[in-house]
Amino acid sequence: MAEGIALELAAELLRSARRIVVFSGAGLSKASGIPTYRDADGLWMNKDALRFSHAEDLDRDPAGFSRFWAERLRVVEAARPNPGHLALAQLQRLRPATRLVTQNVDGLLSRAGAADVLELHGSLRRWRCDHCGNRRGPWLFQRCLRCGRRARPDVVMFGEMLNKGVLLDAQSAAQESDLFLLVGSTAVVYPAADLPQQALANGGQLVTLNAEPLALDHSATAVLHGKAEELLPRLVESLGRQVSGSA
Ligand SMILES: [Zn+2]
Repeated sequence: MAEGIALELAAELLRSARRIVVFSGAGLSKASGIPTYRDADGLWMNKDALRFSHAEDLDRDPAGFSRFWAERLRVVEAARPNPGHLALAQLQRLRPATRLVTQNVDGLLSRAGAADVLELHGSLRRWRCDHCGNRRGPWLFQRCLRCGRRARPDVVMFGEMLNKGVLLDAQSAAQESDLFLLVGSTAVVYPAADLPQQALANGGQLVTLNAEPLALDHSATAVLHGKAEELLPRLVESLGRQVSGSA
């Protein structure tokens, strides 16, 4: 399918959908300088990342753990939303019944103005103390001011379960959606792999937008290949024209 036609078709699907779910992964935030898991220079290829990506590492090497995650937070805090994040926030304004579900822990969708983002893997911008249950901070030098022990980012680390409430909300949204837009995720790992299937099983249509071809493209009504920060603004602009044109 020619690119322009796929884009117009995707915009038309967004326009006619009553409930939209946008599921995003690392590809959405790449242009904001957030390393993806799989890149050669990415977060998880780093030796330190392997040493500090389990919650138990906090007890094994408290200072190293705090240093590592403070540095990850610094990267995220220095990052700015890119045109892809801004386009999704705009989509939510044009189509208020749009739920945004993300695997990203950078908080950039919220920074872009999106509402009620379902963060499946938590957020680096929130921290918590697992020793006394404090979730409010402030976290001076990554320490809990209530009990004095070291805090940790409120992200799902290796070996940990996803937040049940967030996962249930994402599953309900997927099941109730009539359009599921997958952005910048290979969607091969649970639950990412499961959500588009739930949308399809309940009669929803699928649109994929990714730099590389995906196995899921075969199930998609429209397939967009390219960068999220380039295609999403064009998609939402096209939707905006249709919405104002039909008003
Ligand atoms: Zn504490």
